[in-house]
Amino acid sequence: RLFNQLQETKGNIRVFCRCRPLSKEEASTGCLVVADFEAAKDGYLGILAGASSTKKTFKFDRVYTPKDDQVDVFADASPLVVSVLDGYNVCIFAYGQTGTGKTFTMEGIDHNRGVNYRTLEQLFATSKERNEIFAYSISVSVLEVYNEQIRDLLAISPTSKKLEIKQAYEGFHNVPGIVEAKVESIKEAWDLLQAGSNARAVGSNNVNEHSSRSHCMLCIMVRSRNMITGECTRSKLWLVDLAGSERLAKTDAQGDRLKEAQNINKSLSALGDVISALASKSSHVPYRNSKLTHLLQDSLGGDSKTVMFVQISPSDTDLGETLSSLNFATRAR
Ligand code: ADP
Ligand code: MG
Repeated sequence: RLFNQLQETKGNIRVFCRCRPLSKEEASTGCLVVADFEAAKDGYLGILAGASSTKKTFKFDRVYTPKDDQVDVFADASPLVVSVLDGYNVCIFAYGQTGTGKTFTMEGIDHNRGVNYRTLEQLFATSKERNEIFAYSISVSVLEVYNEQIRDLLAISPTSKKLEIKQAYEGFHNVPGIVEAKVESIKEAWDLLQAGSNARAVGSNNVNEHSSRSHCMLCIMVRSRNMITGECTRSKLWLVDLAGSERLAKTDAQGDRLKEAQNINKSLSALGDVISALASKSSHVPYRNSKLTHLLQDSLGGDSKTVMFVQISPSDTDLGETLSSLNFATRAR
């Protein structure tokens, strides 16, 4: 197994960089491609940074070119997905500027299914293969974190009660009161995710803008019982489409927009701090600095397995944000 081979030589965090194609509009307005995939096969990404034609090189566990499709991308994530059935906690998240393909990678579009659907499909398929030895029970929660507040997207009626993160026991955090819906088929699971996604739109006048300013978090909980030995395990897999990492335009730096931007900045920096603390094997990992990292605590670090997709744009017009995302991702290695 590829993941296990990588695992032997490195920590538990994999960083995969994915570059989307130049959009039709970018192509027609003369945007230039700054990404160079010459050594992408070996995990190197080149960025042509500026007039002096200097090339910066970044190294990742994988680099996906605009030609790589959803199947190629999921192939690298699927061993981790299976490890949830073996009792490991897992976290897969997409980081990057708005418009770089975070939602494309995680949710996918129409029949171009993303990581979320393929993950659920894989979980059901593998658990079926193992059903003579293991009894599995799978449930899902769908949350949104917006302005440092947790919202349950599967709640039937909105509650005024504030949702908080509690430690149920050592190594196990949860959010008392949220819906954990048991699912028995891919169809049932997918219908719930759609319902969650629809609930996200309620109360926001611009759905796309809102979704780029909040973290969308899907939690898949797995309980397993070995029917021969009687051993039980409980594990969870987080699939996260993060808020856009772009800096706020100066013209927007006031009111609600400013508050949103500060909260996004706070949680994404907290995530960066946690990941770099883990990468440097620091004794203190600051999980508590944001709702995002606190929620993900059990699935980041320890013996859990993490994949970060750093999403980037190929266009020269996004160069500043691209470099800042690549630098963020580099802290994890
Ligand atoms: P984000 O969620 O980061 O804001 P989106 O997932 O909405 O970005 O992607 C922005 C646009 O780019 C969408 O129209 C999407 O379909 C397209 N896109 C992103 N990644 C790819 C890709 N790898 N191949 C083709 N189109 C892509
Ligand atoms: Mg999105």
